[in-house]
Amino acid sequence: MSAPLLEVNNLQVSFKMFSGEVQAVRGVSFKLNKGEVLAIVGESGCGKSVTAQTLMRLTPSPPSYIKAGSIMFNGKTDITKLSEKQMKKVRGEEMGMIFQDPMTSLNPTMTVGAQIAEGIRKHEGASKSVALLRAVELLKLVGMSNPEERINQYPHELSGGMRQRVMIAISLACNPKLLIADEPTTALDVTIQAQIMDLLRDIQKKTDTAIILITHDLGVVAEMAQRVIVMYAGKVVEQGELNDIFYRSRHPYTWGLLSSVPRLDSDGHTELSSIPGTPPDLYAPPKGCAFAARCPHAMRICRETDPDHFKISDTHSAACWLNHPDAPKVEQSEETGGKVYA
Ligand code: SF4
Repeated sequence: MSAPLLEVNNLQVSFKMFSGEVQAVRGVSFKLNKGEVLAIVGESGCGKSVTAQTLMRLTPSPPSYIKAGSIMFNGKTDITKLSEKQMKKVRGEEMGMIFQDPMTSLNPTMTVGAQIAEGIRKHEGASKSVALLRAVELLKLVGMSNPEERINQYPHELSGGMRQRVMIAISLACNPKLLIADEPTTALDVTIQAQIMDLLRDIQKKTDTAIILITHDLGVVAEMAQRVIVMYAGKVVEQGELNDIFYRSRHPYTWGLLSSVPRLDSDGHTELSSIPGTPPDLYAPPKGCAFAARCPHAMRICRETDPDHFKISDTHSAACWLNHPDAPKVEQSEETGGKVYA
């Protein structure tokens, strides 16, 4: 079997602030195969965006720094060891990123055609006219009408949805093997959100690009991802295939997240719950399970010792003491804090 496209091992990222060290990512490990769609989910502040940005070394340093761990790309390059110059090449040619707000990532003084063509010229050495022709093709690929005219427009002349399409075109310009989409639809209204997700799905099928999708929206995850990582307080607390997480979850935090998703078969009167309490202070993370203060099933051991990942199946693991063979049997249910999606 070929090496995974991405292999993250014990990644730890901290921010050194005047008031102390924020341990934003605390030992994250996962693999991503070629052409796979992996979703990373969790509440804001759980470390999912910092993890994603670190994969492209985009967190500002200082104050952030990679404390430990490795990010192997394509089986041979450790991203954590590359110089900024080497990283620029990787960002342009191997990985692309789509951000939440395209307006802050696009250059307001350049036409969209010039912005798409810029990367093609820099990384592929194409002439201006060839790069512009390719920009037109890319705008077609992302579903823009009249691409020949659009290339001469400036970002402020486009709607939010169109600007996000332009961002996607820029990120695809050099045929990356990996696309990281960080909350790509949060700034858009609901109908446009659906169109952008359809577009990403479509592009993934056409180009076989692997996608890491960062989101707090489990509805989006269900439509798109093959595998899911659930993060809490800078750690992966559960990971598995889509059905493992939606139908056979073994972590109370995931149950809480699932409770906040509306069900299609509900009568419309079911109350959506949010998880009571707040995440722990990452200046001084607790010594045991970080979810213990909010978990309705917390036991004494939870407050004393952080659980390792328990293997549930070949595709599924969860870091929760309830999976220990001697632990009380608590299953996901409406009563225990999670809807059962069976
Ligand atoms: Fe709850 Fe304990 Fe599991 Fe943490 S380890 S999620 S506190 S039961």
